[in-house]
Amino acid sequence: MAKKRLPKCLRCKRVQFARGLCRSCYEAARHLMRSGQKTEAQLLEKGLILPAKRMGRPKSTTGENEERLAQLEKEVETLKAGRNVLHTDGYHGCQPMPEHPA
Ligand SMILES: [Zn+2]
Repeated sequence: MAKKRLPKCLRCKRVQFARGLCRSCYEAARHLMRSGQKTEAQLLEKGLILPAKRMGRPKSTTGENEERLAQLEKEVETLKAGRNVLHTDGYHGCQPMPEHPA
């Protein structure tokens, strides 16, 4: 049974949420940055937070994410297309149309 190992938080043993931290540690780090007690650079330097993924992507893990992103983008396009079809079909959402002119 190969269970997928979830990455653990840098500061505690909980499952990572973002930037190498679990949700509560991430919120705490964000709070430090927002309140000006620490800069992101300081946290990065001390290894308390990981750099944002979109900056330097590690080569080994890009494939899966890219694929997923492409899939999501496709889904969005499909949804958009679907809405357009509905629109041209005479469906106007919240706009009341008493009688459809022939
Ligand atoms: Zn944590």
